Amino acid sequence: MQFIDLKKQYKEIEIDVNERIQKVLNHGKYIMGPEIKELEEKLAEYVGRKYCVCCSSGTDALLMPLMTWGIGTGDAVFTTPFTFIATAEVISLLGATPVFVDIDPCTYNINPEALEKEVKKVIDKGELTPKAILPVDLFGLPADYLAIESIAKKYSLLVLEDAAQGFGGSINGKKACSFGEAASTSFFPAKPLGCYGDGGAVFTDDDDMYQKLISVRVHGQSTDKYENARIGLNARMDSIQAAILLAKMTIFNNEVLQRNKVAELYTKKLMGKVETPTIPDGYISAWAQYSVLAESGKHREEIQSKLKEQEIPTAIYYPKPLHLQSAYKYLNYTDGDFPISEAVSKRIFSLPMHPYLEEEDIDKIAEIV
Ligand SMILES: *Cc1c(COP(=O)(O)O)cnc(C)c1O
Repeated sequence: MQFIDLKKQYKEIEIDVNERIQKVLNHGKYIMGPEIKELEEKLAEYVGRKYCVCCSSGTDALLMPLMTWGIGTGDAVFTTPFTFIATAEVISLLGATPVFVDIDPCTYNINPEALEKEVKKVIDKGELTPKAILPVDLFGLPADYLAIESIAKKYSLLVLEDAAQGFGGSINGKKACSFGEAASTSFFPAKPLGCYGDGGAVFTDDDDMYQKLISVRVHGQSTDKYENARIGLNARMDSIQAAILLAKMTIFNNEVLQRNKVAELYTKKLMGKVETPTIPDGYISAWAQYSVLAESGKHREEIQSKLKEQEIPTAIYYPKPLHLQSAYKYLNYTDGDFPISEAVSKRIFSLPMHPYLEEEDIDKIAEIV
């Protein structure tokens, strides 16, 4: 059994993918070719945003908006410690300070009440300037943007949605990547919408920001190719990756439905055995991961090893919250600072999740659990 079955997915779109890649080979515009604009238009329309800027990875897609906002030394950016390192890493790369906020015990996303407390704390301390909030749509479930956006408004903070795992999810019909002043996603192969290499995209409705993103994507270029307006990146996207994503977009809606069916079956069959995911009313998850809580670390180990005996892969996202990692030692956080993130990281594990998982596979997994 595969944790994510990308081969099965390729079989579904093989002819389309091959034809589109062949087209790129024929026209020879291998980087930023015509496929990029076509994809950007489709993605912007899909999520309901004015602009989409495709780029080289989900990490660069997070970095670029922060750069256009001029985030840097002395600035505080609020985020969750229960995420992939890239979320906080981009803040540190710019010299700004990630200020961690504990998660909600049910959704594993940033807790809005704790967020407001941390914002007030930073203001009272007076050492850092609160600038932005970087919520994560963990495992495919959008964060609580209603509450987050109202806190942002109250304290004049910008919001950047990390939808690397969230693309395809929604809140009351409003799609992930449409929240905040800007949103970022990743097309890493294992994400809900993945290409066959690295890729990402930034979304915004703001004209000025869009122009800056275009500039930052290619070394801070201006309209004159050799007159650079700002410090930028090499964050271009390969045409072949865009071609693959265009093919995958044709089956994506159906895949999100299938993932939701798989999740529903899992929850029905696992309820009472482990703690199954909570999806608040009106929310749709893109199910980047199906993650459950065991009773304890020992219980988790037992289940994982039983599954492994039957060649069923599992994974732990995330075994160590970011505030306890060596890279963030310099921020001087300690064990006990974010009790929910710490407790969840000891009990959580993820089961195979992809649109082509069969009911008999789910039955087998549930039985072993
Ligand atoms: C994968 C991921 C990223 C980074 O995306 P890459 O394309 O791998 O650079 C950022 N944030 C989260 C939450 C992710 O899961």
